[in-house]
Parts: sequence; structure tokens; C-alpha cells
Amino acid sequence: MVQDCIFCKIVAGEIPSKQVYADDLIIAFHDISPQAPTHILVIPRKHISDMNEASAEDQALLGHMMLRAGEIAAEAGLAESGYRLALNTGPDARQSVFHIHLHILGGRRLTGQMG
Ligand code: 5GP
Ligand code: ZN
Repeated sequence: MVQDCIFCKIVAGEIPSKQVYADDLIIAFHDISPQAPTHILVIPRKHISDMNEASAEDQALLGHMMLRAGEIAAEAGLAESGYRLALNTGPDARQSVFHIHLHILGGRRLTGQMG
């Protein structure tokens, strides 16, 4: 756990979240400020700041996140209507929380931007 990391605190249960999925490697919960009718974040329990910090040893973990995100989206009823998976890295992507997270966005026709 990294000090002052809000998502590490959510993993540790120190900050509450509306959790929708959890296993040994990842958790998923509703975004506190949803940009679409469904906006869920999928995060690894392990602290990885951003994609720049991800390495080959994280390959299985990142694949797991991606595949589970698809299942979580389907469980949220988005399989047919569609959804976006987004992973922001750095200032130009407006990353604001430096613990890697996959956004699942859906439930309306999305724009070309994030939301
Ligand atoms: P980023 O801009 O880094 O890709 O996305 C960070 C996301 O985390 C934002 O959509 C923001 O609303 C969400 N977020 C920030 N703090 C919290 C929190 O304490 N709880 C939850 N559930 N989401 C958060
Ligand atoms: Zn963290």
C-alpha cells in the first residue's frame, strides 16, 4: 500500500466505495463522479502508478483486468449497447489518480472525448 494513494485506501477498505466486483487481484467500484449512466473503475490491488510504470511482470494482471472489465460491463447490461474501456496515463490524458484504473463507461451514446 502506498501512502496517500486514494485507490490503495479503497483497496484496504479505509475509504468506502460502491463495490461491484472483487477477487484476489482486482476490485471494481462505481466512480464517485460518473461521466456516463454506468461508470465503473477496475483497479489492481497492487499499486501501479500508471502505464509508464507497468512492466512485463504485470502482463497477466493487466490481461485479467481487461477480461474481467468485459464481464463486469456485460453484468451491468452493456454488452449489446456497447461501452468504452479507457486507461489514462499522464497530463495529456488528464490522469488524476496515480493508481492504474480502467474506466468502464456506458449507458448512453458516448462522444469522441472520454465521456
Ligand atoms: P483519471 O482522471 O485518473 O483517469 O480518473 C480518476 C477517476 O477516479 C475519476 O473519474 C474520479 O471521479 C474517480 N475518483 C476519484 N476519487 C475517487 C474516490 O474517492 N472514489 C471513487 N469511487 N472514485 C474516485
Ligand atoms: Zn495505490
